[in-house]
Amino acid sequence: MLTSDIENYPGFASIQGPELMQKMRDQVTGLGVEVFDLDFTKLALPVDSGNLKDSRNLFTVTAEDKKLEGKSIIAATGADTTWLGVPGEEKLRGHGVSSCAPCDAFFFRGRPVAVVGGGDSAMEEAHVIAKVSPDVVIIHRRDEFRAQKVMVERVLGFPNVRTLYNTVVVEMLGEEKLTGLLLETASVSPKQGVENLDALVAKFGGTLRQAQGKLNRWVLPREGVFVSVGLTPNTNIYEGLELDAKGYVKRFEEHDEHGTIKYLTKTSLPGVFTAGDVHDARYKQAVTAAGFGCMAALDVERWLTEQT
Ligand code: NAP
Repeated sequence: MLTSDIENYPGFASIQGPELMQKMRDQVTGLGVEVFDLDFTKLALPVDSGNLKDSRNLFTVTAEDKKLEGKSIIAATGADTTWLGVPGEEKLRGHGVSSCAPCDAFFFRGRPVAVVGGGDSAMEEAHVIAKVSPDVVIIHRRDEFRAQKVMVERVLGFPNVRTLYNTVVVEMLGEEKLTGLLLETASVSPKQGVENLDALVAKFGGTLRQAQGKLNRWVLPREGVFVSVGLTPNTNIYEGLELDAKGYVKRFEEHDEHGTIKYLTKTSLPGVFTAGDVHDARYKQAVTAAGFGCMAALDVERWLTEQT
């Protein structure tokens, strides 16, 4: 819902995230699927998960004022913004600090902003905000972007977009509103086109702030910053579900007696399957999430048949 242009979803040369979601919703409701727009707060496992053949042995999902029961669950709660965790960030969230350019671009019309990150999401954020801000600085901790080349080229093609390489945000400054970013530049990349830190700081209109032995810290005046350094899977709600080392829901593939894959989307709990970004630390595309959703649905169907 928070993505703007999706350019790799088969069948659409380009489509906006919210439009694609509405189309998916219309498709499934047209097929008789009931959709509840509720935040769920609790998942209770069947009383006897070793005996799922008993149809009274159900999962219970508590969602606001509703209790929904089912014989199986697909955990597909996606992933949320990872914040930097630096001083000032939490306090100034909503007051200059954001993670969603399509949602908040309006507030930054005519104002200088920064985007933190070097992946596809950061490029997307910069692309959206560059249409309204006259001065966008992408701050990346290395001097190579992780993002797809096509996305980098498109963003850096804007005359009002510049990049700070080898640089991290140490603190977000301001009381009521964001006024600037305290940065630390590990080394001045040859890509910056300047010789040293003094020249870099001057080029970006910043001020050196050397203190406590930190010689490479400086302040970049900014009224907005978009944090785009990756995602954290939404798994808090699933008690007892095994997670991998990065905190994503762990999948357990199961093969039949011929070695052919029988289930690809099973989790550590019988009857719980998974799909999308909550389990996927690697691909994270709308199309791969949809593909896993299809696999999970087919797995559930087969599993339910086996239970009867
Ligand atoms: P990502 O690919 O993991 O990139 C995260 C970026 O943030 C990296 O450049 C990383 O730096 C940087 N980073 C991570 N932690 C940091 C920290 N603490 N401080 C400073 N920088 C930090 O995440 P993403 O951009 O959100 O993309 C996630 C997935 O979604 C990707 O697979 C991407 O392809 C996909 N996606 C696709 C589209 C599209 O096709 N339209 C759009 C958005 C996202 P390093 O490079 O140094 O690690």
